[in-house]
Amino acid sequence: MSTFGLVDRYDRVATDLRVSLTDRCNLRCSYCMPAEGLDWLPGDEVLTDDEVVRLIEIAVTRLGVREVRFTGGEPLVRRGIVDIVRRTTALSPRPETSITTNALGLERTAVALAEAGLDRVNVSLDTVRRDDFHTITRRDRLHDVVAGLEAAAAAGLGPVKVNAVLLRGVNDDQGPELLRWCIDRGYQLRFIEQMPLDAQHGWSREKMVTAEEIFESLATTFDLSPAEEPRGSAPAELFLVDGGPATVGVIASVTRPFCGDCDRVRLTADGQVRNCLFAREESDLRTALRDGATDEELADRWRVAMLGKRPGHGIDDPSFLQPSRPMSAIGG
Ligand code: SAM
Repeated sequence: MSTFGLVDRYDRVATDLRVSLTDRCNLRCSYCMPAEGLDWLPGDEVLTDDEVVRLIEIAVTRLGVREVRFTGGEPLVRRGIVDIVRRTTALSPRPETSITTNALGLERTAVALAEAGLDRVNVSLDTVRRDDFHTITRRDRLHDVVAGLEAAAAAGLGPVKVNAVLLRGVNDDQGPELLRWCIDRGYQLRFIEQMPLDAQHGWSREKMVTAEEIFESLATTFDLSPAEEPRGSAPAELFLVDGGPATVGVIASVTRPFCGDCDRVRLTADGQVRNCLFAREESDLRTALRDGATDEELADRWRVAMLGKRPGHGIDDPSFLQPSRPMSAIGG
């Protein structure tokens, strides 16, 4: 096979690569991980920095990937992250490069990441109340996240986006408060519907807070109108807040899936390609890479992996099965 690009059977083209740098995390968000953590990947199964960069280079130079987002687990706990970012942004053509992070430690690394060429950060923050932050993440670290956000903005890693998940009975009444907090600081808030990706299998369709409920709750305080710019493949539906220029996004992965416009592909920390968060199969690039495959052979394997991409994630289908790996191991 030699066709350029990561094209699937439904003619979607993946140009946005999510790279998980580790399955480990220093928070224990209740909707993601159990309090005791998980069985982490053995160290020898995790791609080395050189291996990660080689696969990114193949994606960018041979497969048409234009955006690289580092995630995890928590990408900032990966020791080599600054160097990996520097080597990624040195590629030609230079991919747009960002990270999704809980911001613990970002206060220390924001400047180095910006100097390494990082373009933007997305910070996950579900509440600005210290007690609720502790309840949700099982760690008393709200102050570190706030400091990390400030450092990211000061280092020019903007627009700084904040991702929030609302949980029934915990923070589902805090949408307007969180939005006001973000607008006052110049951060762009996006709400994400809770998805069935937790290791404990605690998700239920009845309990999850829907996009519709989020709108209703925000509408008690703000006037929301659809943002004019076309959404394209962006997962978030954008709304102007009180006529703009501030916006808020809602990522309704469950109730309003956007699979038909999906342009994403994922690489796990142990070198497996996943063509969807909810895929039940993975394609092993690590073994081939360590067995001496050439760049073109690896690119071909990657192209083939895309042919199994399903038309939709099927969460609402009665036959839906949650993937065997949780979000933290796939790379959110
Ligand atoms: N540790 C980093 C962070 O906190 O952003 C990156 C990984 S984390 C898995 C990425 C995002 O996935 C976070 O915004 C988190 O809130 C979200 N997430 C985790 N489990 C989720 C779930 N079951 N449903 C929806 N979002 C989830």
